Amino acid sequence: MLPVITLVGRPNVGKSTLFNRLTRSRHALVADYPGLTRDRQYGVGQLGPGPYILVDTGGLSGSSDPLDMLTERQVRLAIAEADHLLFLVDARDGCVTGDFDIAAELRRTGKPLTLVVNKVDRLDANQVLLEFHALGLGDPLPIAASHGRGLNTLLERIFAALPQVDAGAEGADTTGAEAGKGIQIAVVGRPNAGKSTLINRLLGEERVVTSDTPGTTRDSLFIPFQVDGRDYTLIDTAGMRRRARVTEMIEKFSVIKAMQAIDACNVAILVVDARAGIGEQDATLASHVIDSGRALVVAVNKWDGLSADERTKIKDSYERKLAFLEFAERFQISALHGSSVGLLLDAAERAYSSAIRDLPTPLLTRLLADLVSEHQPPLVHGRRIKLRYAHQGGRNPPVIVIHGNQVDAVPDAYRRYLMNRFRKELGLHGTPLRLEFKTGS
Ligand code: GDP
Ligand code: GDP
Repeated sequence: MLPVITLVGRPNVGKSTLFNRLTRSRHALVADYPGLTRDRQYGVGQLGPGPYILVDTGGLSGSSDPLDMLTERQVRLAIAEADHLLFLVDARDGCVTGDFDIAAELRRTGKPLTLVVNKVDRLDANQVLLEFHALGLGDPLPIAASHGRGLNTLLERIFAALPQVDAGAEGADTTGAEAGKGIQIAVVGRPNAGKSTLINRLLGEERVVTSDTPGTTRDSLFIPFQVDGRDYTLIDTAGMRRRARVTEMIEKFSVIKAMQAIDACNVAILVVDARAGIGEQDATLASHVIDSGRALVVAVNKWDGLSADERTKIKDSYERKLAFLEFAERFQISALHGSSVGLLLDAAERAYSSAIRDLPTPLLTRLLADLVSEHQPPLVHGRRIKLRYAHQGGRNPPVIVIHGNQVDAVPDAYRRYLMNRFRKELGLHGTPLRLEFKTGS
């Protein structure tokens, strides 16, 4: 599972500046999906030794009042679920009362913590750092987030302090072997969407649940199961299995756990609640799936007992608000009654095989030529953009690299045309697709 680093600090110390810097390199896919906005609070950081989940608690507490209770809880959750706390203070303000308050609270958590002094640009770092020793949190580390200064040192220090990820050690023989069986599926969705109900349905009695062996408890993260003789593994980071049977009022929803599950899966099943309508949380979770490049199947749940009018309304709303999920297969299901649930796993198989498909260069190049002759790229400064050939630049998600001239000038509309047609002609369904352009031949 991805480690979690949580940013804490007073307003204006530079948390979101730092967050943006550390998560920026993953914009590539997002740019290809019009209407998709990035989550400003949770992101996957790339700068530094390895990927990690980064949470900006400032973004959490900065939202409007009715949500305060919820965001307050999410801040606490973000601290509780952190592997490392990054406490940011402001060199220009110096060490102020607010910092002492936060320091006291953070110390109480007992979590590993790094004290980071931001905005040391144009200041004498050594001089500035001195007063922050008063917080009693060890040696402060100087950075200038907006200049990108000190960030590599910072990440190296944090990674050195992280608990050694036991992917190789413990996971390799037991959990790891099981985790590797069949397609790995993560079920994500907002609270109450019906995730636990769906999971229980998928793991239902009539199916062989192979996880009830010593060592795999109900809290196990990877739950292998079989349907029609095929192996699957459910990734249950949120402990959703069996939960629906125990009526539990406590909100267990955690964006962090959802992101960890998304990162670890081959295919995400996004459960949307038809009765609650399509909300921001659905879009946010969807954006994390795309951002991670994972294959996706959408289950619009609680379809039972809705009137024809309501059904039309929900379909419209879905197509408006989640237009960027056009690439994914969508099913109207009832997790409660089981209708259409059986279709999800087949769709997951299709989505994953699209995601890992080999796309031979001759095929891609021939397709490109067809698409270009059908609809030419525009002229730029009197010269036509030339797209010469294409090859596959990666799998899972598939990346198609297109070589040509003036590729920087390819308009978004033309890029979308290529994307849609490549998708259609290649039969790539259920996976994000990335187009990259390269100059030259
Ligand atoms: P947040 O409220 O903690 O998320 O703080 P922001 O990231 O919004 O930053 C607050 C202000 O500090 C903005 O105007 C930033 O441009 C500025 N800032 C952030 N990092 C630095 C830095 O390293 N040096 C300087 N000089 N300003 C910075
Ligand atoms: P989770 O928070 O996403 O895990 O949601 P749960 O699985 O706990 O379900 C939340 C509530 O929705 C429970 O009361 C379920 O019985 C109900 N529910 C789940 N699926 C369906 C469905 O397909 N139809 C209807 N009518 N209710 C459902």
